[in-house]
Amino acid sequence: MSLKDDLWFDPSKCLIGGRWVAAEGGDTLPLIDPSTGGEIGQIARGRAADVEAAVAAGRRAYDSVWSRVPAADRGRLLMKLGRLVEAKVDILARLEAWDVGKPLAQARADALALARYCEFYGGAADKLMGETIPYLDGYTVYTLREPHGVTAHIVPWNYPMQIIGRSVGAALAAGNACVLKPAEEACLTALGFADLAREAGLPDGVLNVVPGLGAEAGAALAGQDGVDHISFTGSVATGVKIQTAAAQNVKPVTLELGGKSPQIVFDDADIDAALPFLVRAGVQNAGQTCSASSRILVQKGAYAEVAARMAEAYGSLRVGRAMADLDVGPLISARQKGLVSGFLEQGADLEMAARGRLEDAPEGGHFLAPTLFAGVSPEHPLARDEIFGPVQVLIPFEDEAEAVTIANGTDYGLVASVWTREGARQMRMAKAVRAGQVFINNYGAGGGVELPFGGMGKSGHGREKGFEALYGFTTLKTVASLHG
Ligand code: NAD
Repeated sequence: MSLKDDLWFDPSKCLIGGRWVAAEGGDTLPLIDPSTGGEIGQIARGRAADVEAAVAAGRRAYDSVWSRVPAADRGRLLMKLGRLVEAKVDILARLEAWDVGKPLAQARADALALARYCEFYGGAADKLMGETIPYLDGYTVYTLREPHGVTAHIVPWNYPMQIIGRSVGAALAAGNACVLKPAEEACLTALGFADLAREAGLPDGVLNVVPGLGAEAGAALAGQDGVDHISFTGSVATGVKIQTAAAQNVKPVTLELGGKSPQIVFDDADIDAALPFLVRAGVQNAGQTCSASSRILVQKGAYAEVAARMAEAYGSLRVGRAMADLDVGPLISARQKGLVSGFLEQGADLEMAARGRLEDAPEGGHFLAPTLFAGVSPEHPLARDEIFGPVQVLIPFEDEAEAVTIANGTDYGLVASVWTREGARQMRMAKAVRAGQVFINNYGAGGGVELPFGGMGKSGHGREKGFEALYGFTTLKTVASLHG
């Protein structure tokens, strides 16, 4: 079976104003299968002219049609789109497996999450309300939650379907027209999703997709004055560029950036329950997860048991081609493999507790065996920097105060978990740890459509997912009527 068997659209085109069009100049970029390193197709290389056309199409669609569509009808349309996604769940999963190298079962979970986002935001579209405000005698004052207009969505390659669901899904529900710039490494499901949106009846121009390089299409979109809001998910370095570009046009920005998320295991934790979460949250999607739990902090009394059992679990991790659907797939690119290998070299002085094994890993694929380091100091680069690969470090700690200091000791603050049976400690830790999400006796890397998600510190600002996202994709107008 080849990628062509799964494609029902032309991936070398952009979708602008409801039409599939080649990027201006007809340029394309190679589409690489991370499982083999081989070229399996071409995608459009959009540039500034394509982005301008997409933003203009979004504006026309917003002004002429979309801004007048009742919220309940927007919601029905999104729910229909969710059903279309669900009907194609296996094909979308295979597209993601070809494109991202994600093992099929993990890719299928992403496709189901995309359908669920459409259902959730479809149901929420007509429940987004303003307030009435008590004011002076003779006045009636109320607020209106209005869409921004045209929103830009710049997304990374690691979870395209989930990130498109949470950002484009919420923006459409709130009444915006969207321009989506998927990552150059992985844009197939973005294009497939936009085609399904047409099939669901989304008016032409309400969702436009322009694939292309970050420095070309991405930078052009971030710098567009015609865009009213920018949602960006990706690295800190690019986030800084996007916010700087947006500032020139005074545009609001949501930044969903990186993380170094800890799981904190106390002596009284239920280790049987914790173990699958401790390992999976580090190696899921080959560790290329913003909310990957790359630091495991363990209290000294439980440390030996947790270290031994995690090492045993690592020993049984199998790595291979996405289509072989093993525990861990390849990294997205040779570049990413090089970056993670650099971190592994920095860990040469550390105690390597265990590694997974390459089982079905073709020559040329971007594979790395998952690696667990033990007894790591919180000051070590592998304990502080985002690695974005299948690497976890075990860090011992003495007591609650030290756990909080270590947990809060990086630049990031995306997700954390606390494993303890003691109720009061659960509450204290939830307050003390600096993170946008804190899980108690579980860990939800990437999951939870309903749960507001976003960072503190260099993990970013603004919230996506849940109902909270709808506030970010709207702006508030206050109406004060003096009627005597
Ligand atoms: P990246 O910042 O390189 O790319 C992300 C997107 O930005 C891509 O579409 C890319 O083309 C575009 N881009 C790159 N340069 C640009 C520029 N100058 N102007 C405008 N757009 C540009 O990130 P990546 O390597 O694709 O993703 C990995 C990073 O993303 C990690 O740090 C990870 O933690 C983070 N991430 C965060 C979340 C979250 O929700 N917080 C989710 C997934 C990934």
